[in-house]
Amino acid sequence: MTAPVDRLSAIVGAAHVSTDPDVLAGRSVDWTGRYRGTARALVRPGSAEEVAAVLKACRDDGIAVTVQGGRTSLVAGTVPEHDDVLLSTERLTRIGDVDTVERQVRVEAGVTLADLQRAAAGAGLLFGVDLAARDSATVGGMASTNAGGLRTVRYGTMGAQVVGLDVALPDGSLVHRHSHVRHDNTGYDLAALFVGAEGTLGIITAVDLRLHPQPAHRVTAVCGFADLAALVGTGRVLRDLECIAALELVDGLAAGLAAEHLDTPAPVSGDWLLLAELAGESDPTERLAAVLDTAPLAGPAAVGTDPAGCQRLWQLREAMAEVVGLFGPPVKFDVSLPLSAIPAFAADSSALIARHAPRALPILFGHVGEGNLHLNVLRCDAAREGSIYPEMMELIASHHGNVSSEHGVGSRKRAYLPMSRQPADIAVMRTVKAALDPTGYLNPAVLFG
Ligand SMILES: Cc1cc2nc3c(=O)[nH]c(=O)nc-3n(C[C@H](O)[C@H](O)[C@H](O)COP(=O)(O)OP(=O)(O)OC[C@H]3O[C@@H](n4cnc5c(N)ncnc54)[C@H](O)[C@@H]3O)c2cc1C
Repeated sequence: MTAPVDRLSAIVGAAHVSTDPDVLAGRSVDWTGRYRGTARALVRPGSAEEVAAVLKACRDDGIAVTVQGGRTSLVAGTVPEHDDVLLSTERLTRIGDVDTVERQVRVEAGVTLADLQRAAAGAGLLFGVDLAARDSATVGGMASTNAGGLRTVRYGTMGAQVVGLDVALPDGSLVHRHSHVRHDNTGYDLAALFVGAEGTLGIITAVDLRLHPQPAHRVTAVCGFADLAALVGTGRVLRDLECIAALELVDGLAAGLAAEHLDTPAPVSGDWLLLAELAGESDPTERLAAVLDTAPLAGPAAVGTDPAGCQRLWQLREAMAEVVGLFGPPVKFDVSLPLSAIPAFAADSSALIARHAPRALPILFGHVGEGNLHLNVLRCDAAREGSIYPEMMELIASHHGNVSSEHGVGSRKRAYLPMSRQPADIAVMRTVKAALDPTGYLNPAVLFG
């Protein structure tokens, strides 16, 4: 290994290459702590040119490379399986000036979401994608997974925010795809090819991102329902309002665990809770009240009309990131379902889990406006995970859902790709992969495996 390490050190500087076993072990495990691999070196390039040179060196030496941003992937997308070189984007952290006229900013791939949000807010604007992993997740990782999150119902996913990018290709060349105009149909939409490719086609080194005006008014409500179908029905009405800003589901068990964890009572009771937020140029409080007045709620809603009040209600949803870890690493399912299938899926998935793991605790939450739900199974050991996982994938498919939603495929779900994609579709994806990375050394564990 000395020769490749020397070559990598010559590119990025010896201080930015590590073969320390403890460092590598810490970087070779996923966010949940459930999936682990092995790596031979960690390399931290400081520029797009260094990223490209590292790729070329590894390709020439026949060494697999796994790209790592904030390592918040929930589908084990950064876990190396081929004694890889881990390429971290953590030194690519420059944030350009915010262009308030075009409402754009260029940022390097390793910039965290929280830092981007601060930069946008400093210019009186906001970034349209938000998620609980904001302090660690990077824009490169988010673009690569086409991340969604808490604001997708209003602003769309990362794909809707990316207006240009720089990418280092597997052959060591660099592509710069930028435009000074808002509408540009000159040739293939190459930026879209790399968004959602999960690092299998190249390494994004910088992105131009769309920013949005800050709404002047915001109102948040948490409502309890006895019946999930009633919650989904109310959610559908709210989703279609032009001032919708967030629409999140939390089940009663998760809300109870959050209340215990936060040592604060849940804002409302009910088997199913809906957090709804409206935002706009004029005050949307009346609009929200009009919908909730006719909704089949289990009791009065809790409403926040000022920033502190809204924030208090958001605590419930934000606490989910910690609640899922209360009983050790959870088993996670990130599911997209037609809205009409959500109630039946909730019942069927609970029954499936109870059959295989009677002591397990299934909790359901997520972005119900998009039909994108996170089913987390707490207190579930590896043996039971092995029997639940494939059956759950079958169940999702039988409800016309998608086995992989906003988190992507990573390595965890690659065996299930054929459940959501047809053979001809997968063949085209493999052709694109082979054209850009004929030896398949870049992120080899991801997507196809
Ligand atoms: C608490 C918590 C909440 C979350 N909530 C959401 C949510 O609401 N919505 C959502 O969509 N996701 C969510 N996630 C999942 C995760 O945060 C997202 O997938 C995020 O986009 C990953 O960013 P990252 O920088 O951590 O990427 P990583 O985990 O480091 O990498 C993700 C994938 O992208 C590749 N990659 C990373 N950087 C690059 C790059 N520069 N170029 C090419 N490929 C790259 C990696 O190889 C890997 O395959 C959540 C995760 C956690 C832990």
